[in-house]
Amino acid sequence: MKIAVLSRNPNLYSTRRLVEAGRERGHEVRVIDTLRAYMNIASHKPSIHYKGEELEPFDAVIPRIGASITFYGAAVLRQFEMMGVFPLNESVAISRSRDKLRSLQLLSRKGVGLPVTGFAHSPDDIPDLISMVGGAPLVIKLLEGTQGIGVVMCETEKAAESVLEAFMGLKANIMVQEYIREAGGADIRCLVVGEKVIAAMKRQAKPGEFRSNLHRGGSASLIKITPEERMTAVRAAKVMGLNVAGVDILRSNHGPVVMEVNSSPGLEGIESTTGKDVAGLIIEYIEKNARPNQTRTRGKG
Ligand code: ADP
Repeated sequence: MKIAVLSRNPNLYSTRRLVEAGRERGHEVRVIDTLRAYMNIASHKPSIHYKGEELEPFDAVIPRIGASITFYGAAVLRQFEMMGVFPLNESVAISRSRDKLRSLQLLSRKGVGLPVTGFAHSPDDIPDLISMVGGAPLVIKLLEGTQGIGVVMCETEKAAESVLEAFMGLKANIMVQEYIREAGGADIRCLVVGEKVIAAMKRQAKPGEFRSNLHRGGSASLIKITPEERMTAVRAAKVMGLNVAGVDILRSNHGPVVMEVNSSPGLEGIESTTGKDVAGLIIEYIEKNARPNQTRTRGKG
């Protein structure tokens, strides 16, 4: 098969591994820099140009679109979809998953366990918003944040009120969440491919920190997840419409709760922690599922 990997940087671990795994299995794999792909969107015959040439046809495309270029990346991926190329994850599902609030609303609609979460616009509604999520301690999150930046824990209601007022004053989009203390600064990253969790790791925050992001000094280790956690991760990916996803789960007193569903999960931490050939399993998924013109929306979404 001919596989395109949409990625800004061929040297990133995840990109390198996907290229390697594809070639090992006898496929032709080419990395396309997302921001150098351009197109005539009004043409009757959809095509993509790249650094001055028209791109050859591909059977499948693996999107690795960074959060900062979601808008342009989704447009490029949509063009691939209009050309009938099989996307590992569809553009519509990626755009959906990049909006944290919309994701939680979709998951909630389908009954997936979530931390109690609130969202408001007016500072006048702060006191009720805080009581709605059960009072302090609570977590305030910037909707645009990644890698734990913009996630703040407030021990008291007074602190929460002032942080919320400050963020609202800056016109930032925020949500307020119950703090899952019993998670003990740990979360579980489940790597879902198709309808299976193919690898899982626990991430533990460093002492004195509640955010377990590896970028924030968290450490990863192997973990055996429960059938309920497994089912929650698979359902979350499915609700989002993602074939491949990194589902972040917290162990709460009311069962597993989903914090986030990631559409371009990093492979380095999960492969080195679990020893699993995640990239190989992703290529295998493409081999089994790639068909032309099979996207649910075919670029319509
Ligand atoms: P980001 O997308 O920036 O990584 P997250 O929402 O995943 O932001 O939060 C970062 C980390 O903070 C999580 O990995 C988790 O360890 C911790 N965390 C986030 N929300 C909660 C919460 N409601 N209760 C307890 N810990 C949380």
